[in-house]
Amino acid sequence: QPPGQRSEDVIQRYMEVVADAPEEDCIICMEQLSNPSSYETPPSEEGGQSIVPEAVGKFIKCGHTLHMLCMLAMYNNGTKDGSLQCPSCKTIYGEKTGTQPKGKMEIYSVGQSLPGHPDCGTIQIIYSIPPGLQGPEHPNPGQPFTCRGFPRFCFLPDNNKGRKVKHGGDFCFTLGFNHKRSGLSLLPAGTPTCRLHTRGLSAHGQVLELLKVAWMRRLIFTVGTSSTTGEHDTVVWNGIHHKTEMMSNLSGHGYPDPNYLDNVLSELASQGVTEDCLKP
Ligand code: NAD
Ligand code: ZN
Ligand code: ZN
Repeated sequence: QPPGQRSEDVIQRYMEVVADAPEEDCIICMEQLSNPSSYETPPSEEGGQSIVPEAVGKFIKCGHTLHMLCMLAMYNNGTKDGSLQCPSCKTIYGEKTGTQPKGKMEIYSVGQSLPGHPDCGTIQIIYSIPPGLQGPEHPNPGQPFTCRGFPRFCFLPDNNKGRKVKHGGDFCFTLGFNHKRSGLSLLPAGTPTCRLHTRGLSAHGQVLELLKVAWMRRLIFTVGTSSTTGEHDTVVWNGIHHKTEMMSNLSGHGYPDPNYLDNVLSELASQGVTEDCLKP
């Protein structure tokens, strides 16, 4: 592990040691905070500070307290992506990433309006993910995963204010993964995006930008069991709802839906993807 990337470093980045343990129970182990964590200090690596079982930590933003070793154990059980989530209030520290396999996100604009949004055209997002082998981050590493219903087509109203140029049908944006020899790597930050999509954003324009961030962080899909089909080891949506019907609403994932904007923004936020991610 490079310096600053060890699990202990991640814990110490987002939690500070509390001198006097408050009269509360640890939300992870349910033991009183004045008693030590039942987890043991992992074998120390060179140059790193270890965490003792007595250490009580406080999250730097939300202020919740728990055993630092309990938090360390929880972190080591997860994807170890350098981010922490407070188990009390779900506040995310750092950048949460997911396990979405490599693929392509394409964005087009089409002239036709969506039901409920008669004044504007439509943004069409196309997700393509090919089948492959599961990585260590997936439920059954080394086993194949399937991809049903891809490419998946999704729709957003294209009501960006301040957009000067119409570019009906033009392809304007692609995000993908670089496939390095060693596995997956995200495209570097600052990958060119369509200028027209970043100026004078409307709420839905902002949703599109946040979906791009979520894609880059591998949060849109995951590998698991489909609740629709029951199939295991397949690529499924990961809790950020998309509208997959344009002119009909047979599945309930179509328009009109006056609550969609609020719902998708809160689903994005629960994965740590917020307006703040769009600030330079
Ligand atoms: P899933 O069934 O495990 O559901 C995960 C989440 O996605 C749930 O929150 C659910 O509400 C939402 N969801 C379910 N159906 C959706 C839809 N049509 N559009 C948008 N959101 C939807 O996840 P999954 O297996 O990835 O999604 C199931 C959907 O995927 C199917 O309804 C279908 O559209 C598509 N699919 C197509 C085929 C095919 O062969 N054409 C096969 C499997 C799935
Ligand atoms: Zn504990
Ligand atoms: Zn908290």
